Amino acid sequence: MIKYKMGIMGGTFDPIHIGHLILAEEAKNHFGLDKIIFIPTGKPPHKHWDNVADSVHRYEMTLIATIDNPDFIVSSIEIDREGTTYTIDTIKYLINQYNNTEFYFITGADSIVEIFKWKDTEKLLSLCNFITAKRAIVSDNKLEKTILDIEKRLGTTIDILPIPYIDISSTNIRQRIKRGKSIKYYVQDGVREYILKNKLYID
Ligand code: ATP
Ligand code: MG
Repeated sequence: MIKYKMGIMGGTFDPIHIGHLILAEEAKNHFGLDKIIFIPTGKPPHKHWDNVADSVHRYEMTLIATIDNPDFIVSSIEIDREGTTYTIDTIKYLINQYNNTEFYFITGADSIVEIFKWKDTEKLLSLCNFITAKRAIVSDNKLEKTILDIEKRLGTTIDILPIPYIDISSTNIRQRIKRGKSIKYYVQDGVREYILKNKLYID
């Protein structure tokens, strides 16, 4: 039976930017994925999260950014869940929801080099394929070392998606807004308008 291939893009999306969208689109084309599900993370009550925009704003911006692509869908499962959300729980939930589906978790290299800090890394990698794109903030050497380590310790591999570096981050976009710099073309127009309308990231 032909399996359905579903990509998963997890992120804070604070805000969602063209780096995320290009990554998802390229992963879809390269691996022949049928759909990509964008899952904004919840906002656990950690001090570290004090500066993160409300879940509703991040969710709405993700919807706006993906509205014109019928293969991009957005899920509120993580923002609806109370407290800390773990990728492993989300994957298990999705496996239950979608029959006959193979999952591909799409990441940037900075997420992969942290993967051993995630909950149940081994189980997670056995349930789901992982795809990563290089990011300027992570050296190729560090990424390759991590992938070798994963292969050695867990017997599974991470596929590197061949796309150009897109040296854009949400952190950088938030800083630009604070400094009064333009973010035109860094994010979708609708997302930029949403940020302006809701006065996000100005202080
Ligand atoms: P922040 O600066 O707030 O951490 P971010 O730009 O890293 O934001 P996230 O929401 O943290 O965005 O990222 C979600 C996922 O998308 C992560 O796996 C991250 O590595 C990946 N990602 C984000 N931006 C890029 C980019 N420019 N190129 C490749 N991957 C990216
Ligand atoms: Mg990040």
